[in-house]
Amino acid sequence: FHQTMPKHAYICPVPYELYEKYGVRKYGFHGTSHKYVSYKVAETMGKDIKNLKIITCHLGNGCSLAAVKNGKSVDTSMGFTPLAGVMMGTRSGSIDPSVISFLIEQHGYTIEQIDELLNKKSGILGISGVSSDFRDVLEAAESENERAKLALEIFYYKVRTQIAAYAGAMGGVDVIVFTAGIGENSSITRREILKGLEFFGFTINTEKNELRGKIQEISNEDSRVKVYVVPTN
Ligand code: AMP
Repeated sequence: FHQTMPKHAYICPVPYELYEKYGVRKYGFHGTSHKYVSYKVAETMGKDIKNLKIITCHLGNGCSLAAVKNGKSVDTSMGFTPLAGVMMGTRSGSIDPSVISFLIEQHGYTIEQIDELLNKKSGILGISGVSSDFRDVLEAAESENERAKLALEIFYYKVRTQIAAYAGAMGGVDVIVFTAGIGENSSITRREILKGLEFFGFTINTEKNELRGKIQEISNEDSRVKVYVVPTN
């Protein structure tokens, strides 16, 4: 699904030879899910996907967003590997790559340790120190665990700013879709992520937002931009 991304979205700004020689570029992941939920939401709305700008947020253990313009993926947040993009359960998402050479040079980390650190010990787990499971971290935050609260704040912020970036990439947005374990089930997460993005032109229906695990609009009927929960398949 992500093979339709334009070159300016998938080429990494490193020497071009690395793309030619080794295939270093953004590939993207969760393509099947982003495709399914974007087509499903268009069908549900009774609209032709060719006329829609959709941002799909696949938020589970792994998290990625996609910008789907006129039925085609034009950008997505995971990259050469699933480590890139927004913060996840145990993955850092995108960080300054110099952190890696700093840890290797100054503190003697091995490449294997770095790999393990960024893929298995970072993200929600690394910040909260509680768990990679979102339910545990939500519960800890409710009990005033400061690091659990911080982990959630970072997560909301990363997803929120990624949504804003993709509205920029497409010159606007008509529909925002939430899917996967967190996206389908956590009304708090959807609400917190969308806080501050109302200027796009949506209002959330608090009652409808309480739903779990079924396809439904969670924005108000008169909302210009639509927000949906679409269980992935
Ligand atoms: P997935 O990879 O799509 O299976 O999603 C797994 C993630 O969804 C885990 O972090 C779960 O904690 C999270 N999740 C599942 N159900 C809920 C829920 N009711 N509230 C918050 N997070 C949930």
